[in-house]
Parts: sequence; C-alpha cells; structure tokens
Amino acid sequence: MNESVRASAPRVAVIGGGHAGVEAACVAARMGARVELVTLSAGALGRMSCNPSIGGIAKGQIVREVDALGGVMGKLADRSAIHHRLLNRSKGPAVQSPRCQNDRALYAREAAAEAARAGVTVREGEVVDLVVEGGRVRGVELADGARLAADAVVLTTGTFLGAVMHVGLETTEGGRVGERAAVPLAARLRGLGFRTGRLKTGTPPRLRASSIDWDRTEPQPSDDDPVRFSFEPQPAPARGVACAITRTTAATHAIIREGLDRSPLFTGKIRGTGPRYCPSVEDKIFRFGDKESHQVFLEPEGLDSDLVYPNGVSTSLPRDVQERLVRSVPGLERAEIVQYGYAVEYDYVDPTECDATLETRRLPGLFLAGQINGTTGYEEAAGQGLVAGANAALKTAGAGPFVLSRAEAYLGVLVDDLVTRGVDEPYRMFTSLAEHRLLLRHHNADLRLLEHAERLGAASAERLAATRARAARTREAREALESARHEGRSWWERLRRPDGDVDAALRAAGRAELAAALTREDREDLEIEARYAGYLDREREAAERLKASDARLLPPDLDYAAVPHLRAEARQKFERVRPRTAGQALRLPGISPADLNLLLVHVARLEQAGRGRGPASGAATPCPA
Ligand code: FAD
Repeated sequence: MNESVRASAPRVAVIGGGHAGVEAACVAARMGARVELVTLSAGALGRMSCNPSIGGIAKGQIVREVDALGGVMGKLADRSAIHHRLLNRSKGPAVQSPRCQNDRALYAREAAAEAARAGVTVREGEVVDLVVEGGRVRGVELADGARLAADAVVLTTGTFLGAVMHVGLETTEGGRVGERAAVPLAARLRGLGFRTGRLKTGTPPRLRASSIDWDRTEPQPSDDDPVRFSFEPQPAPARGVACAITRTTAATHAIIREGLDRSPLFTGKIRGTGPRYCPSVEDKIFRFGDKESHQVFLEPEGLDSDLVYPNGVSTSLPRDVQERLVRSVPGLERAEIVQYGYAVEYDYVDPTECDATLETRRLPGLFLAGQINGTTGYEEAAGQGLVAGANAALKTAGAGPFVLSRAEAYLGVLVDDLVTRGVDEPYRMFTSLAEHRLLLRHHNADLRLLEHAERLGAASAERLAATRARAARTREAREALESARHEGRSWWERLRRPDGDVDAALRAAGRAELAAALTREDREDLEIEARYAGYLDREREAAERLKASDARLLPPDLDYAAVPHLRAEARQKFERVRPRTAGQALRLPGISPADLNLLLVHVARLEQAGRGRGPASGAATPCPA
C-alpha cells in the first residue's frame, strides 16, 4: 500500500504476537489499516508454545479456511513443514485432515517476515492498561508509560494473563517458559467488569535427539504425496525428517503413581480446568487406569535442532519424577531432558462477552481472539485472529461486519460456539462439532469462502483469480459429466461407484481436454461431490434452513424485560449473550422454540409500531420451529 494512504488509514493495535495476534495484524494490515503489534518479546513472533506441528483433525480444515480468506498460517506451515500426514486417510472425506510437523525456528522466522511484508509495525513492550474514553477503547498504555492511540484494539494475550507456571510443587509467575506474565492487564480487565475464569494447559519435557536410541522405536515416515495447507504453492524446506513412535510401560505408570503426591494437579495447587482431549500423562494414567500403555510420538523440533518433542507425555510432575518416567520408555533409557515439562494456569475472558465479530459488547472497539477466549490450539487461535482482525479493520473503515455461518466454515462453528455457549474447559475444534461437516471439507475451503475472500480483499488478486478459475473448470467438468449419457445414465451418476474416476469418465464422455486441466484436488473434490451427492443435497437443504434463521437479525439494544410472558431464565440468557440472530438465540443452551417465538412476536410488534430500531431483514416473521 502507498505509504501516504496508509498514514491516514484507521489505526488498529494488536496486543500479542502469537498465532491469533500475527493473523489479526496481517489481515487488518492487508485490508488497509495501520497496524501496530505490541508483544512481550519481539523475537517470539509466531512462537509455538507447545508442539511444533500444525493441523490435525478439524484443525487442518481451519488452517485451509484461514488460507482461503487471505490469512497466513497455511503459508507459514507449508514453508516450514518437515513431515506430513493426512489423518484419517482411510475414512470418509469429511473427517480427513492434513497435519504437518514444523521446524519451530523456521516457522517463527517466516511469521516475522510475513508480518513485515504485510506492513505491520512490531513493538516490544508490555501493555498494562486500556485507554477508555466515551465508553469505548481508544488505545493502550505500555509499562514504560507510552500510550498508543488506536481506533480498535485486538487483545490476543494467550496463556499470559495472570499466568502461573507449575513444576511439581514449585510455582513461578510466567506465561511460557522464560517469559513473564501479564498481571496488570489481567487486573484491569477484571476491573472493567469482564467475566473471567481460570484454565490450565501443559507441555512435555524436551529431549536431546542424539540421546535417543531410535532403533528401539517404530519409524513413522512422512507421506509421499503431502497434502499442503495453502492454496498458493509455497517454497518448502528441501528435506524432511522421520518421526517415531514408542510407548509408556508398566514401570512408567508406577513411577507416575508414586509421584502423584507431589503433582500440582493432584494436590489441588492447580485449580484451572485443563484440556480434556489433551490431558497430561499423569491424568491419563489416573483416568484410564486399566490401560497398559499409551503411545508416545517422538517429533523432531527442526532440521538443524537437536530437540525432540515427546508428544503424549505432557506433565507437571517434579523434575526427578520426569527423569525417571522418561527413562522408563523404550528408546528413551538414556534420554537427556533439555527442558522440563510444566503446566501453566492463566485467566481467560468469558467469550460470551463478545459478539460474532469477536468485539466485546462491554467495551466497543475492543476485540478478543485466541486463547484469551478460552480456546486451546494454534489453529483455533489463528482462526479467531483472522475474524477479529478483519472485523477490526472493517469497523474502523465504517464497513459492515464479517460473520461466517456454521454452514459455511469451521470458523463459523468455532466463533458461534464461543460467543453463544461460552466455555467451561479449554475449547478445541472437532469435526463432530460441525453439523454440516460433509460440506466443510478441507479440499473445498477456497471455493466455499471465495465470496468472503473477495469482500475482505486480504488475499492477493492472483489468488482470487486462480480460485475463480478453479470454480469455473470444476463446474464445466461437472456439467459435461452430467449431460453426457451412457446406457441411460449420465457419467456423473456413474461416478458414484466406489471405483469412479473423474479422468476416465471425462475421457469416455469425449472431454479429455477438461480432464487434462484438472488438478489432483479438483479431481478428489469432484469424486466426493458425485459419490456423496444424496447426502450433500440433504446437507445443503439443512444448511439453507440454518442460513435462513441466521438471516433474521435481532435489534442489538432490545429490552428483553419488555418481552411479554418470557421466562426469567430465558430473559437472563438473552441479556447475557444478546444474540445477533434468531438462529443464535435458539442455539443458546436452555432456550426453547417457544421462548424464541415470544421474542420474535415482540420484535414484530415493535416494528409494526415503528418503535423498534428494526432488524435489517425479516425479524418480523415468528420462527416456525
Ligand atoms: P499465545 O501464542 O500464547 O501468544 C500470546 C502473545 O501475547 C505472546 O506473544 C505474548 O508475548 C503476548 N502478550 C501477552 N500479554 C501481553 C501484554 N500484556 N502486552 C504485550 N504482549 C502480551 N495447545 C494445544 O493445542 N495443545 C497443547 O498441548 C498445548 N499445550 C500448551 C502448553 C503450554 C505450556 C502453553 C503455554 C500453551 C499450550 N498450548 C497448547 C496452547 C497454544 O500454545 C495456544 O493455544 C496458542 O499458542 C494460542 O495462541 P494465542 O495467539 O492465543 O496466544
């Protein structure tokens, strides 16, 4: 962007340089805002706090959606990938997800380079206060007294708010090993009235690669035909690494049980709730006492790194117990621990404080994204960063909001779940949380989000043109297969057989030139569309119904106390979340169709009387549900 244009552009301050912060800053800058990113450690931009890997079940889809919308995580992951796996390869297309292992240092270098390319100014410092004027946020104050004026602020403080780290019965203040906690900002948020809670997460010890006996482990090679994340081809490292699998033993479990009396988790020192689906090894041994062994994935941290991340043995047990438990695992008998595992407890803000743009209702202009909203995982953080950053840029430019529906994207499911239901444990994405997951495949993220990407303008013009071309050539191939018939059936119908092959069908239909133009991903997507046509039609119909209920907007300043006959419990729930749409209102836990009908009848009356502020579309119709 021309520098004189940028100088007069609205200002967005992003606090935090983790996965949410980098994404928020880059998208807002690419959309034309002047972005300053403040972070505790400028050298730690895009740092992976825990495992050096991106993607996985449902998370891989999120990364592809972020990429489709012009975000950066997919590009950074591809440029630093050293091991690839398509998870659930043998299962249905809705649950297949790409995952890669990354060179940790290279990922962070690429994140810094990408932020610089987007025009983000990075500033090292600690934000201790929010500047509030006229009931809205106007900027932030740093520990050194400097003030940064901003038209919107995106807070992405991750695991750092009021953070405390635990190893055994030892406790230290800090948000990540070697980095301090954000204490004054946590107090300020509570002082402003934000509802906050306490969560915890943990990480395993890191091992020296050269001290591992790899011959005693089972190699896990990278896929030969890697599925990459970005829809734009990215340069990749010239070589990869092999990962390996080993397992805990009966001796490991005995050592852990003996150490539980010095575990901060089991002695009650840690009160925050941990991630149920990513438990510590001590939690696994306690909860699944009858299991004889648990897998440990040995994942190298980089091409030139001598560190290995033992995925599966996250722990906050005392150091001496960590040493014994590691050495009881085959292949790790002489393993050297370079950094001990630990747990971190931190504050999060109840995400129902935010609306679907991730802006807080309590303090207009303030957006929250990432682990601060009670999620866990880099991908969930990046997805929210993109939504919050884009909305901050749109709002400061006076444009309408960017909201994805649950039927369009995992990002829609993620944000809707957070702002509608809140969290009581760290939230992570699963395919089972998306009611229309067969529509939300990783293959088609660019196609299904094209209109949104065009509106945001964060993706390059060439990228958008390539997606339009992809849409056109797959449409043409489909139409050719639907119209050419053989023995009474179209070639499209014939493609439904398990051995259906798009290339062969197009050649048989006399359209070999169309087959030649298709990419591997085009073919896979066409085969899925043909094979699951019946299910997909039904899902599309259900998705349309969902979209219709989400198109009925509710007035943002509705007086719920004035809704006749509304149950007190329903009123309290509506007041707490202030649902944006009829669909969101009905998704609130404990809200019935009858509650919603009362609400919609009231809104209709207000509109007829000309007193309501008036929803943008169709709220006058009571819900048939
Ligand atoms: P972070 O990546 O935490 O980034 C926060 C950023 O905010 C940092 O740059 C920090 O410097 C900055 N910051 C904070 N306060 C201030 C301030 N006041 N002023 C300026 N800058 C500030 N996820 C999993 O999915 N599985 C796991 O097993 C797992 N284990 C984890 C273990 C540990 C020990 C930790 C720390 C995290 C773990 N995570 C795990 C979570 C994962 O790291 C996060 O989900 C992800 O990094 C969140 O991204 P984020 O951008 O929200 O925050």
